[in-house]
Amino acid sequence: MIASAPIVVVGGGLSGLVAAHLLERLGLDVLLLEARDRVGGRILGLAAEVGGHRFDLGPAWVWPAINPRLAKLLDAFGLPLFAQHSAGAGLVEAHAQTVRRHATGFMQQPPSMRILGGTAGLTDALRASLSRTRILLGARVSGLTAGPAGTVVVEFDCTARGERCVASSVVLAVPPRLLAASLHWTPPLPQALTQRWQHAPTWMAGHAKLLAVYAAPFWRATGLSGSAVSQAGPLAEVHDACDAGGGHAALFGFVGVPVEWRRRMGRDALIAAALAQLARLFGPEALAPRAVHLQDWAEESDTATPADAQPLSAHPHPIDPGLPAPWADRIHLAGSEFASEFPGYLEGAVVAAERAVESLRHTLSMRTPDGASGTTG
Ligand SMILES: Cc1cc2nc3c(=O)[nH]c(=O)nc-3n(C[C@H](O)[C@H](O)[C@H](O)COP(=O)(O)OP(=O)(O)OC[C@H]3O[C@@H](n4cnc5c(N)ncnc54)[C@H](O)[C@@H]3O)c2cc1C
Repeated sequence: MIASAPIVVVGGGLSGLVAAHLLERLGLDVLLLEARDRVGGRILGLAAEVGGHRFDLGPAWVWPAINPRLAKLLDAFGLPLFAQHSAGAGLVEAHAQTVRRHATGFMQQPPSMRILGGTAGLTDALRASLSRTRILLGARVSGLTAGPAGTVVVEFDCTARGERCVASSVVLAVPPRLLAASLHWTPPLPQALTQRWQHAPTWMAGHAKLLAVYAAPFWRATGLSGSAVSQAGPLAEVHDACDAGGGHAALFGFVGVPVEWRRRMGRDALIAAALAQLARLFGPEALAPRAVHLQDWAEESDTATPADAQPLSAHPHPIDPGLPAPWADRIHLAGSEFASEFPGYLEGAVVAAERAVESLRHTLSMRTPDGASGTTG
C-alpha cells in the first residue's frame, strides 16, 4: 500500500499547481486536494461578457525584470505580457474630496506588467499541463497524522463527508496562518512554531478590490490615465484595468476602508460610495458601469483568518520552512509566504514550490526500499 501511496499536494493556488506540475515531471503520482470548488486560490478572474478576457480580482501585476522564476514559467506556457496602462494624467484626491490633476500617471518602478487575458491564464495553463495528477476540488484538509514508514495520513472533508488517504509525502501549499488555524497535527507541532505561523500575515488577505466595467475607457478620452490616489476613499488607489487593446474597459480600486468598517457599511453602500468617488475623479460616466464587482478577500475563509482583518504594516518577511521530527522528511512547505524571496507574491509562490519539490525529491532519494527515511524522523 505504501509503495503505491501518492504524493499529496494540499492547496491548488499557484504554488500547489507549480508543485504538482514539477512532481508530475519527476514521474511521481500526485493527488492535489483543494478546499474551494476551483483552483487558483488568490488568483481569480471575472470573465468579460464576450471574448476570453478575464478581469483580475486578485493579483494583476508581475515584474519580469525582478521575478525571474515567474517570468520563465510565463514564457514556458507562452503567456504574453503587456504594460499596465499609465499614459495620461494621474489624480490625487484630498480628504476634503478636492481633486488635483498631475501631468503624468503614477509609473511603478520597475514597470508593472500584466498577463494578456488575465492572471488566471497562468493557473489555467498549469492545470491543463497536469495530465496524470488527480485533482479533488471541495476537499478541505483538516488533519495530518504521522504514519508508519514515513507516510502521512491526510484527513479531509469532501462534499461534507470525512475522508482520509495515505500519502508517501505531503506538500503543503497553504499560507502559514491558515495552516495554524485549520490543521490538526498528530503528533502536535511545537507551540512556538504554531505561534510563529499565527503571526505571519497572509499577503493581501485583508484587502478588497472593486472592479467597475465600462462600455469604453472614457477617462482616456480626457487625457486621464485612470490612476488615482485618494485620502477621501473609500478607494485608496485606482488604476486602469482594461485589456491590452482597451476593448474590454474597466477601472479597479483597492478599498482603503478597514474590514470592520466594510462590514458595518455593507456591500451595497460600499459599492455606491466607490462609484460616487469614481465619478468625482473621472466624470459622471463612472456612475453607469456595465458591471461592478466587489471582491472582499477578508470574507474568504480559505484565504483569510480573523487576524488578517488587521491592516498590514509592512511587506511580508520570509518564514522558515523547517519542521521538526517526525515531520521534517514527510511534509514539505510550499505556499508563497514560505518563500525565501518575494514572500507573499506570485514569484514567491513559484520559489516556494520549487524549493518544496527539491526538498521532497532529496528526501525520496534518501529513503530505503521499505519507505523509511534514511535521515531523521
Ligand atoms: C487582492 C490581491 C492582489 C494581489 N496582487 C498581487 C500582484 O499584483 N502581484 C503579485 O505578485 N502578488 C499579488 N498578490 C499575492 C498573490 O496573489 C499570492 O502571492 C499568490 O497568489 C499566492 O499563491 P499561493 O498558492 O501561495 O497561495 P493561495 O493562492 O492562497 O493558495 C492556497 C490554496 O490553498 C487552498 N486551501 C486553503 N486551506 C486549505 C485546506 N485546509 N485544504 C485544502 N486546500 C486549502 C486555498 O483554497 C487556495 O486555493 C495579490 C493578492 C491579492 C489577494
